[in-house]
Amino acid sequence: MMNKEKILVIGANGQIGTALLPKLQEIYGEDGVIASDLQATNPPKSVFETLDATQPTALQALIKKHNITQVYHLAAVLSAKGEANPLQAWEINMQTLLNVLEAARNLNLKKVFIPSSIAVFGESAPHQFTPQQAYLDPTTVYGISKVAAENWCLYYHKRYQVDVRSLRYPGVIGYQSLPGGGTTDYAVEMYHKAVAGENYTCYLQENTRLPMIYMEDVLRATIELMEAPADQISVRTSYNLAGTSFTPAELYENIKLLFPDFQCGFVPDFRQAIADSWPESIDDTSAQKDWGWKPKFDLSQITTEMITHLSKQLIG
Ligand code: NAD
Repeated sequence: MMNKEKILVIGANGQIGTALLPKLQEIYGEDGVIASDLQATNPPKSVFETLDATQPTALQALIKKHNITQVYHLAAVLSAKGEANPLQAWEINMQTLLNVLEAARNLNLKKVFIPSSIAVFGESAPHQFTPQQAYLDPTTVYGISKVAAENWCLYYHKRYQVDVRSLRYPGVIGYQSLPGGGTTDYAVEMYHKAVAGENYTCYLQENTRLPMIYMEDVLRATIELMEAPADQISVRTSYNLAGTSFTPAELYENIKLLFPDFQCGFVPDFRQAIADSWPESIDDTSAQKDWGWKPKFDLSQITTEMITHLSKQLIG
């Protein structure tokens, strides 16, 4: 049954797509997954198709060409990058989203995955243990586009019965790829610098606590949600998802246990205001109850994993 599925990943060259692709290939086979992005990587990954997802005709043609049954839509302009050109970020995030939802409706896709973010929350949401149903008044164009996206997902589900599923990812930490312009990128950058034997200047204050999650947990959550029976999915906007929470100072101390000579300074820039508007921790009770979500990685486990893998990459 599962072998009949054909998956299209949009934005496959990004931080999450790079790690998600091999996981999906394990499940659906190498030929069962089509990677797509604006440009091919060198060497190309998997079966690759160039796609600008702002182009609806090209997207629908690709879905028909490969008899796609499910789409993972990962293309987006992220929080920090989006602030450089807000209208362009809005245009790309909304146009690609609506093209995917329209394709799902017109071409009867079985399932669609569209990630959201903790950036949907703003000043009005409680910052600790932020609940699923908090008031959403985001401070970035990225957050505004994700709130709109969540509501469009619910609309397409209710009006057209599109089986669209979504998670509000925290800041994602992985060794497989580099982050693409978010506010939580500092964590991955700090690990890379420590392993390279260099010092690091963090753009957030040392006491800024943010929700974070290890890539393995992100991939498992995504696949568990997509494999859950449809009648178990009670949230059709986007599920709160928790991994762990920590501050830059706590990450620094953790890294110093393994690299005692590593030095980190703290010089906040415009990203501090974005981080200050976000939750410190997330209440993901709905995800736990509906499809059994439980994270596996805390800060010290993430550090061990990141340092081990990045050190191997450096030697390799
Ligand atoms: P990324 O920026 O690393 O990758 C996005 C990819 O989309 C890039 O490879 C880019 O080339 C591609 N892309 C951009 N415009 C495109 C277009 N018009 N057509 C096709 N491809 C296009 O992002 P990521 O970190 O991998 O994030 C994936 C998804 O997860 C996004 O929706 C993002 O909002 C969400 N998310 C990520 C994080 C995180 O910490 N990485 C946290 C919360 C939510």
